[in-house]
Amino acid sequence: MSTHPLIESLRPPVATILDTLATAEARYCLGETTTFEPAKIHAAWPEVFRPETVSALRAAGIAEGAGRPFVALVLQALIEAETTPLHALIAEREKAVTVTDASGARVDLARARRSAARDVTAPQQHLHERYDREVAPLWLESQQRRLALVTAAGYRDLIDYADRVQRHDLDRLEREAREFLDVTRAQYESIRRPRFAAGSCTVAQLIGAARTTFADPVDLATCLPLLHALVGELGLEFDPRIRLDLEARPGKVPGAYCLPVRVPDDIVVAVSASGGVGDCRPLFHEVGHALHFAYTGPDLPVDGRRMGDEGLVEGWGVVTENMFLHHGWLNRSFSRRTATALGHDTAQRLLIVTRAQCVRLLFAVDAARRPAAPTELRSRYDQLMADHLGARPGPIEYLEVLCGDFVSATRLRSWEFGTSIGGLLAHEIGPDWPGDPRAGRWLREHWRVGVTHTATEAIDRWAAPPVSLAAVAENLAGSMVHAC
Ligand SMILES: [Zn+2]
Repeated sequence: MSTHPLIESLRPPVATILDTLATAEARYCLGETTTFEPAKIHAAWPEVFRPETVSALRAAGIAEGAGRPFVALVLQALIEAETTPLHALIAEREKAVTVTDASGARVDLARARRSAARDVTAPQQHLHERYDREVAPLWLESQQRRLALVTAAGYRDLIDYADRVQRHDLDRLEREAREFLDVTRAQYESIRRPRFAAGSCTVAQLIGAARTTFADPVDLATCLPLLHALVGELGLEFDPRIRLDLEARPGKVPGAYCLPVRVPDDIVVAVSASGGVGDCRPLFHEVGHALHFAYTGPDLPVDGRRMGDEGLVEGWGVVTENMFLHHGWLNRSFSRRTATALGHDTAQRLLIVTRAQCVRLLFAVDAARRPAAPTELRSRYDQLMADHLGARPGPIEYLEVLCGDFVSATRLRSWEFGTSIGGLLAHEIGPDWPGDPRAGRWLREHWRVGVTHTATEAIDRWAAPPVSLAAVAENLAGSMVHAC
């Protein structure tokens, strides 16, 4: 790890800031407090969260090397400080502007938007026009402010920033995404066509309609013992660092998430059970994060423990989530019928979700290169959705994707990383690696370096199969059952 004096001087305050943020977030998520306001915590550290921190790292020539995590942290906080007031304004405007709904009643835009998301058959032209005129400019303004901060910090544009600081390599991802959309088109259409006419569903509706039913129950009660068995067979442990919080209770933020309160000593995995397989895959995903953090070397500096490349961090979640695509593990964990159906269900769902993320990536990259007015941006997004998904987007989806900081790139890279690591373990240890303590040893050894490497650096260094969405597509195809 770097011993550059500038990095050394930033580590102590940043370690304190990140611990403070993580503690506050955990208290909020677990229902112990009702608010989580990172901006207030950032504001208490004006000597860290200022443009000068970034310019000093650039002047020292380490902004894209050892200083990269610090540049990302500071710029992210500055962007949030600039854009949060606009998001409050957007919420206000959505309440103030009204439209006439199908039954002739006046409703505010927020409400109209929510009902339009539920009912894709209702005409939406009027809502879109109002939204694009009255509210979309505020979204674009927030994107402009993000761009202004990033260019003031010395990056050419948002793509340059994403490549050099977030390490996305968007040109490569764009090519991969196009190829993935081509290669998986026929498979995807075989899922969509029997269920919906082109343009008559949203992605969420298609996922819902494509859901498989299983011969045996697949839920938290059946999957939790399987998870404990897997961790045990790998020679790994939850205790004493990882705590599972699996009860739904008032005040606890719903969903599944991992809270690295202290890395590596205090990690919480939270799931609020809602029933069925929908609780299981996220549980395995979050436990992948938890194990990675819990086995991170305690002596690493803060930037090696918790400020890493999101593609790598998310990728470790994919490694364990992908148990649901692993034939050997599925077959020894479930009856044959359920194992096959579960692998198929997982692959089908991931195929839809990955295609949707590819579309989001193509749109976001294109919009960053060719900015345009709201109506033009909307029509480009609608076209991509129609071409590749045969689906209708939600009313403001294009704006959320546009201002979403290339989250799609993180998702796509995490699937690439998880698939590559699975391939490496199958090659090194054998196809049944999930039951093998040697795989556990390999994982422990590679988790120890925490987030020292980016996903691509790690894959190169560990000689894992190259990251590619084609490998993701192949892995999914291996679990799909084709109707004949
Ligand atoms: Zn995750």
